Amino acid sequence: MRIMISGWRGILTVVGIVVLAAMLVAVCCVHVACSGGQGVAVPILMYHSVGYNPRVQSQYILSPEVFEEDMRWLSEHGYTAVFVSDLVNYVSRKTALPDKPVVITLDDGFLNNRTYALPILQRYGMRGVVSVVGSFSEEYSRNPDPDPSYAYLTWEDISFLAESGSIEIGNHTYEMHSMGKRTGCMRLAEESVAAYSAALSNDLSKLQSMLTEKAGVTPSVFAYPYGAVSQEAVFVLQSLGFSAALTCTEKINFISPTAPERLYHLGRFNRPAGEPTEDFMNRVMGGT
Ligand SMILES: [Zn+2]
Repeated sequence: MRIMISGWRGILTVVGIVVLAAMLVAVCCVHVACSGGQGVAVPILMYHSVGYNPRVQSQYILSPEVFEEDMRWLSEHGYTAVFVSDLVNYVSRKTALPDKPVVITLDDGFLNNRTYALPILQRYGMRGVVSVVGSFSEEYSRNPDPDPSYAYLTWEDISFLAESGSIEIGNHTYEMHSMGKRTGCMRLAEESVAAYSAALSNDLSKLQSMLTEKAGVTPSVFAYPYGAVSQEAVFVLQSLGFSAALTCTEKINFISPTAPERLYHLGRFNRPAGEPTEDFMNRVMGGT
């Protein structure tokens, strides 16, 4: 089929149709992404160590300078950092979320989260979620080491972070943060659901009790080590009173009171060293 377009009137008509179609698509996308359809778009960023370790080049060690550049970018682009518990309250109680919410998470409980990350977060009016590994914190509480390039938070440090009001504490297992026979806290192929549930429940509740006793905080968010998820884990998390879980699946979350199950499968974007702030943010925040 041939379409004949003649003169300026024809060209203007075609341009008009294209503009109208683009506007329609934009309106639909905004509606689906940000309102009743899919939910509120919430990117979650994943950091680990915010410090200096020149001997180790890693996806999981970022200098405080780059971390600060990231926080400045978020602040200048109108993002408001929220806790995971704010997402939970939005889903369960419809408590309002700010425009352009973002969640900043830091895994493993490095001491430098207190030394470097906390002051930077506070300087930019941001807040973060620090998910700690119980056995690491127990070891460093017994033998404190002040070197922020590799040390872990003590119970006292965790209490300090929680009381700052800028940090939500998460559970990252007591001692299932390894790649031995089991990958993180994943169910083993030959393991019964009952045996797996008991093992996971024992580990997580051990850290919950220690955090309550020694740091005065009881987390409601869990972070899967290595993002290794087992379907059966959600039932254990729910039975222990966790309201949300962080994975490592790289996706924007759409938070909605009509889809509470999404809180147990929150996706995150790992922030690797070596990528300029502008490039990283444009890559992961594009849809929000
Ligand atoms: Zn971890």
